[in-house]
Amino acid sequence: MYITLKDINKIYPNGFHAVHNFNLEIDKGEFVVFVGPSGCGKSTTLRMIAGLENISSGEFLINGERANEKGPREREVAMVFQSYALYPQMTVFDNIAFGLTLQGVDEDVIEERVKKTAKILGLTDYLDRLPRALSGGQRQRVAIGRAIIRKVGIFLMDEPLSNLDAKQRVTMRSEIAQIHRETGATTIYVTHDQTEAMTLADRIVVMKDGYVQQVGTPRDLYFNPVNVFVAGFIGEPPMNFVRGKVENGMLAFGEQQLDLKPVRQDIAELEGREIVFGFRPEAISLKPREDAVSVNCRVELTEMLGDNTNIYIVSGNQHAILKVDSHDTPETDADLTFRIPYESIYLFDGETEMVL
Ligand code: ATP
Repeated sequence: MYITLKDINKIYPNGFHAVHNFNLEIDKGEFVVFVGPSGCGKSTTLRMIAGLENISSGEFLINGERANEKGPREREVAMVFQSYALYPQMTVFDNIAFGLTLQGVDEDVIEERVKKTAKILGLTDYLDRLPRALSGGQRQRVAIGRAIIRKVGIFLMDEPLSNLDAKQRVTMRSEIAQIHRETGATTIYVTHDQTEAMTLADRIVVMKDGYVQQVGTPRDLYFNPVNVFVAGFIGEPPMNFVRGKVENGMLAFGEQQLDLKPVRQDIAELEGREIVFGFRPEAISLKPREDAVSVNCRVELTEMLGDNTNIYIVSGNQHAILKVDSHDTPETDADLTFRIPYESIYLFDGETEMVL
């Protein structure tokens, strides 16, 4: 295993326990994304890996060797920050070359490597410019160039796209994926944006309140979330949840009773228990189908997004969002019946919120 984090904890000097028993193994060349809401401990973990923050307890290994005590340089990591941290008085060329110049690398070698890096990043025509004459996206590319030119083993990125506008973010996202394919560098990437995590990652680590909630491929997390938090965090719009008690194998949804017996053969075991019933907005059908739970509702609002439309519905006192093909958009205030296929229904424990 290339990188190992074993029972890593971070307790800040003020006593705040920011990261609890973090365990993870990362293979060479993997693209791993740490994702979670603000304050969940993802930057703290990344900074411990970078050597910018000391590790309170646990073991951190690179290539099987303990690295807890190693400084950032010895760890062979390069980091890209949210603020690009470019030198304003230096040209793009000199900014990219900076690390190599410091190391005293031969000028010819530097020139060759800067040109190659600039080519990968589409910066060839900008090498003589100062950072102030670049767009946000171009500046971020320079910051990435400065990191990848060092050919280090581990590439760390902390919210690198958060200063870009929505369109630039999408472009840079695919560029980062492309750069990863070309360089094959092991990458750990921090973001609070689930779309970035889903599109970039080989594996995602979902964090909340300093605890890892789940580690898995984007597919794993989307189809097999372990708890309500992961189910609600991954996917856009988020999964719909209905809380209620199982009575006679049924669950109240607004003014209706949903029959859970065909959903789960073991439903008798859940009798009398508080549960959370979950379904994704996009995993529903407006057409009749057999193997599905049927729900009547009223359309409150529709939101046309292009090929898809979000429908905000209400059924009794329960609100939910459905995502449908825009050709199937109903009228506002219309009565609507939709079906949730049995296979798309998730049940969670009402107390622990773990999947049942
Ligand atoms: P964000 O996306 O907002 O950066 P994050 O998930 O990266 O969030 P961290 O920056 O890792 O979160 O912070 C985790 C927790 O640790 C937060 O509650 C934060 O307030 C706290 N924290 C961060 N740095 C310190 C510090 N130097 N001393 C005490 N507490 C800190």
